[in-house]
Amino acid sequence: MDARQSKNRGETTTSARPTDTPLGGNATETSDQTGRSGRTDRAMQAGSAVVLPPGAREVARGISTLAVHAGEPRPKFGNALATPILQTATYTFADTRELQDHFERRIEREEYGRYGNPTQRIAEQKLAALEGAGDCLLFASGMAAITTTLFALLSHGSHVVVTDDSYRRTRQFLAQVLHRYGIEVSVAPAGDYQAIEGAIRPTTRVLVSESPTNPYNYVLDLDCFADIGRRHRVKTIIDATFATPFNQRPLEFGIDIVLHSATKYLSGHNDLLAGAVLGSAETVEGIRALQAVTGAVVDPFAAYLLVRGLKTFALRIARQNTNAQALAEFLAAHPRVVAVHYPGLPTHPHHEVARRQMRGFGGVVSFEVAGDLDAASRVVDACRIPQIAPSLGGVESLIEQPALMSFYELTSEERLRVGIKDNLIRYSVGIEDAEDLIADLAAALEYA
Ligand code: PLP
Repeated sequence: MDARQSKNRGETTTSARPTDTPLGGNATETSDQTGRSGRTDRAMQAGSAVVLPPGAREVARGISTLAVHAGEPRPKFGNALATPILQTATYTFADTRELQDHFERRIEREEYGRYGNPTQRIAEQKLAALEGAGDCLLFASGMAAITTTLFALLSHGSHVVVTDDSYRRTRQFLAQVLHRYGIEVSVAPAGDYQAIEGAIRPTTRVLVSESPTNPYNYVLDLDCFADIGRRHRVKTIIDATFATPFNQRPLEFGIDIVLHSATKYLSGHNDLLAGAVLGSAETVEGIRALQAVTGAVVDPFAAYLLVRGLKTFALRIARQNTNAQALAEFLAAHPRVVAVHYPGLPTHPHHEVARRQMRGFGGVVSFEVAGDLDAASRVVDACRIPQIAPSLGGVESLIEQPALMSFYELTSEERLRVGIKDNLIRYSVGIEDAEDLIADLAAALEYA
């Protein structure tokens, strides 16, 4: 039965989503972006309509309302207010007639856990509404989303352009894994649009970048990036993990696909792993068909936690934006700090681009202390509020030295070649009180 199911899915090109889910029926399609327009602040507020009771008129809603309500059917299974977790690996059919109706797409229903789960669908529709996307597909992790998307878009002999200062594992996947399958990769500096365009070949299929990037917070001019892609008929992908749809919605600039490590800001509590791909219904359907074959699906409990985390999405991101801005301004004025990489500072090379296309500048502040690797380590170790851990985007502040975390096994020279300095610290700002974070960091910097 599995092969037949996959084949059936592989042939599908439309995104028919359940309108009568096992969670309680009446789920209105939420990923239809009729209410979306322009790039004004109001446009950032607006998105697809919240799911409303049957018969109610749909209106555009603000991002906080969407975060709380979008994608959620009314009523839910068992009249629950919270989203139920449907912890099941498979789904039963009443008879063979229903099975045939399902395969012929005469009815919409779930089939097998690798092809989706009702709790997952709700999280996906909420994210699609927040991002202004035609559809969303969740994965078991951000990397699962990235790798499956690239596998879906590339084939032997094709070529990818990726910007530098992208997440290390993404670059590794492109340069080391895809290379083995006859896919060529070029790296171009983020922000150098001539170099990005110059790297395009007749075989180029995809342009990939982050915005803001990890860890230097470079901000791509999304208009420009999308325009290069359009003119060369190459798909553009933005990993927008650092920005979140609260701060930036790349699809409104003509970007084809948005990726997120939902492990970070979207879930916001450092308690789950998930990834998301968003774009047009047709694009996402192609990736969904590959996920049905390769797996890496999000589990129902993680989807539940994501829905729960998203309820406070707008509050959290707004707070992280202001905390990070305060921390960045404090650091910029500190005598023991030689550089601060935060797009909210006028000194950041992409400050103007960020101001044009972002509502806030995000919650990651990277900075360099005066001194060497050990001086930076002393500062990290002396902090009492942020804990040392990889990852970012949660309510708790986290701190790390990229040289001693993601790039640990490289020599100092190798790290420098990929732009990672020994004295660099990445601070993922949480939702604590800004004054406390600043006082804590001020005390820690005495050790630099
Ligand atoms: N993209 C960015 C920008 C990241 O920072 C990360 C992880 O740190 C990922 C993707 C990968 O996400 P995950 O850890 O959920 O696989």
